[in-house]
Amino acid sequence: MKILVINAGSSSLKYQVFDMDTGSVIAKGLCDRIGVDGVVTHKRPGKENYKAEAPLHSHDDAIALVLTLLTDPELGVIADISEIGAVGHRFAHGGTLTESTVLGQKEKDYLASIVPLNPLHGPPALKGLEACEKLLPDVRHVGVFDTTFYSRMPASSYVYAIPYEYYEKYGVRRYGFHGTSHRYVSAKAAEYLKKDLKDLKMITCHLGNGSSISAVKNGVCVDTSMGFTPQEGLPMGTRSGSIDPTVVTYLMEKLSLSPAQMNDVLNRKSGLLGVSGVSPDCREVMIAESEGNERAHLAMEILYHSIVKIIGAYAAEMDGLDVLVFTAGIGENDAIVRSEICRRLGFLGVEIDDARNRATKRGDFVDMTAPGARVATLSLPTDEEYMIALDTYRLARA
Ligand code: AMP
Repeated sequence: MKILVINAGSSSLKYQVFDMDTGSVIAKGLCDRIGVDGVVTHKRPGKENYKAEAPLHSHDDAIALVLTLLTDPELGVIADISEIGAVGHRFAHGGTLTESTVLGQKEKDYLASIVPLNPLHGPPALKGLEACEKLLPDVRHVGVFDTTFYSRMPASSYVYAIPYEYYEKYGVRRYGFHGTSHRYVSAKAAEYLKKDLKDLKMITCHLGNGSSISAVKNGVCVDTSMGFTPQEGLPMGTRSGSIDPTVVTYLMEKLSLSPAQMNDVLNRKSGLLGVSGVSPDCREVMIAESEGNERAHLAMEILYHSIVKIIGAYAAEMDGLDVLVFTAGIGENDAIVRSEICRRLGFLGVEIDDARNRATKRGDFVDMTAPGARVATLSLPTDEEYMIALDTYRLARA
C-alpha cells in the first residue's frame, strides 16, 4: 500500500509518499509560498529533483499540484491516484485526543474547536485536510498528533499550579509537542538495544530549531519540557523557553507591549538569538563563540545549563536513567553540544566514547556509549513522517 503523508503549514505544504511494502520513501517534496506566488520542489530517490514556480493560491491548489506531480508520466511515481491507500495528516495539536485516529466529522469538529489553543498550526492543517479530502474522497484520512505521546503523563506533570478552574474551563495545561519524534526515537533506541521499552528509563532530547526533552519510563512518557505551547522548556533558536512568568507582565507594563508584541519578543527575538545577538542558528553562535564572542558563549552556556537541569530532573523523576538519546538538527549533528552535555552528566553514569561521538553526521545512527558506562548514549535520526505513515497504514487496514 502507498501512503501519502501531508504536513501543512500556513504558507507551505510538505508531502512524502511511502511504499509500505518496502518501508521506503518513493517521492517527497514541498509546496512553498502558498498564497504568495508558489514554488514546488519534488524529489524522487535516485532521480533528478524537479523545482518550478507554480501559482499556488491556496492549499487546494497545492494538493492538486502534488497529485498531478505524483501521477505525471515523467515525474510521477504512481500511475493513478487510486494507488494511494490512505493519507496521514500531521497535526501539531490534538488537544486531549489520546491516539492517532481516522478523521471523521466528530474528530474534525473537535480539532476545529481547539484552534484557539493552536492558532498558528491548526488552521493550515485543517485546510490541508479539507483540500485532500476533496481530491481523495474514497480513502481514509488519519490524524497523527504531536501531543498524543503525552496523553498518559500523570496529572502532576501536566497540571500547572494556577487556579484549577483555568485547566477545567480553558484547557490550560501541559500538552507537550514533538511527540511523534520522541515516540519514534524512543522506539528505535529500544529496538537497537534489543530491549523492551517497558524495561527502560529513557530521556530523549530533540534539539533543533525548536527543542524539547521527554522522560519515557517503562514505555510511557511521564514528563516533557514543552508545555501549553511549544514555548516552554529549553531556550531555542529564537524562543526563550521557561522564564519567570512575572518577567512577561513586568515588560509588558514597562514597555507598553501588547500580548502580540510580547509573544513576538518571546517567540522570535529570544533564545540563542536574543542572548548572543548573533543568530538563532546554533552553528553560527558556536563559530562566534570560538572567535571569543562572550555573549555567544553565554548563550551556549545557558543552553547546556538548561538541558542538563532538565535531564537531571527527569532522571530524579524516573528514579534513574538507562538510555539517553539525541536527535534533530543539533542533537544529530553537533558533537560539541553532545559532549558538553554528557560531560556534565557523569554523576548519572553517562560516559561517552569521544571518537565515536565526533565521527557522526546527520542521518547516522551512533552508539557513543563508553565501554562499561551505566547509561547507553545514542544519537539517531528522527523520522516523524515515517511514524505518521506507520500509524496511517495501521489504521487504514484496521
Ligand atoms: P532542525 O530544526 O532539526 O532542522 O535543527 C536546526 C538546528 O540544527 C540549527 O540550530 C542548526 O544550527 C543545527 N544544525 C544543523 N546542522 C548542523 C550541523 N551539521 N552541525 C551543527 N548543528 C547543526
